[in-house]
Amino acid sequence: MKHTVRLVALLLALLLVLGGCSKPMAQEPTPTPPPPAQETAPPAPTPIPPPTPIPTPDNLVPYTGVVEHLFFHPVICYPELAFDGDHQEKGLDDWMVTLNEYNAILQSVYDKGFVLIHMGDVWSEQLNADGELRMVRNEILVPEGKKPLVISYDDTNYYQYMLDNGFTHKLIIGDDGKLWSWGLDPQGNEVVSRDLDAITILDKFIETNPDFSPFGAKGCLSVTGYMGILGYRTQTDRGNESAEFEANRQREIEAVKPIVQILKDTGWTFGSHTWGHANLETASLARIQDDTQRWADEVGSLVGETNILFYPHGARPDGNDWTQTGPKFRYLHSMGFRIFASVGIESFSFIKKDISAVICDRLHPDGTTLRWHRNKYLQFYDAKDIMEVDVRPDYGYNWD
Ligand SMILES: [Zn+2]
Repeated sequence: MKHTVRLVALLLALLLVLGGCSKPMAQEPTPTPPPPAQETAPPAPTPIPPPTPIPTPDNLVPYTGVVEHLFFHPVICYPELAFDGDHQEKGLDDWMVTLNEYNAILQSVYDKGFVLIHMGDVWSEQLNADGELRMVRNEILVPEGKKPLVISYDDTNYYQYMLDNGFTHKLIIGDDGKLWSWGLDPQGNEVVSRDLDAITILDKFIETNPDFSPFGAKGCLSVTGYMGILGYRTQTDRGNESAEFEANRQREIEAVKPIVQILKDTGWTFGSHTWGHANLETASLARIQDDTQRWADEVGSLVGETNILFYPHGARPDGNDWTQTGPKFRYLHSMGFRIFASVGIESFSFIKKDISAVICDRLHPDGTTLRWHRNKYLQFYDAKDIMEVDVRPDYGYNWD
């Protein structure tokens, strides 16, 4: 025992000497630990360190201009499967970008001085002078010389048609505690990667370029419910579940919970894209009520409440007219939604006067805009530098 005490004292003295060196500690070689003495307690398991807090950047200045908003779908990681001449090819070309295009777009918006902010931080709900709740645009601060950018990702559900067409299959948790994607390459081999999925690519991009996310924001994930979420089949079958279906569903629910938690802990947020990808212009009010409740039950119960609704197909309720506050809109508002996002040719937004709500549009980097709307996107990137002409089908383009 005495011997051990002396050994510990010697070690402490040695550590103090090392710590007192004038060279920075980081450059010291790691000392080899001595073999443990008999009385030494077993080493405690190494706890996973908590996420590093994001320091508030210096030199923040108010930004009063338009907050630009880009939205993506999941990205095509194997174009040879997406662009193989089948009936899905045109739709995938229209609405998706490839892996290389996505990487190039992120690099370009970063180089042009955009920084990510949370979509939910742009507006908030406040009482006005008449005692009514209304949405207001928040004061937005950005590092000097930077411009705020919101990114959202629609249909991050890993639908079956995506799995068949060159997309990743699901998010999983790696041994490092980070999110990775799991999928199959064109030869059918399993692939675990952080370089093939829009979500993990943005995670990695920000690890390399932390100043792209000065406040810790990443993207807002717009999820439906009819095929589960994030690659996990968490949806019900309305009482038609076999025991096997239900047992699998419960396993999928337990598997996705920690993934949702990691996403939330690392700057991702969630919005509703309706349960059934419902067209809110044509669906009846009764169908919308049923769908909205089902999203809350099956998806909201996993990702938490949200006040953001992303219109499927960009279709607005009540006559597809954003100026209207009709019965469908009022119902959706009563279910907690305050930010109603569609799709458009600019990052338009409008705070409604008659009800506490914001209407906004998002720009859409994809095949249609890369081919035909180069000029609308030049502040973000030049389609000429981005589009993989040799990889996509030959549907033409106009870059004049
Ligand atoms: Zn959608």
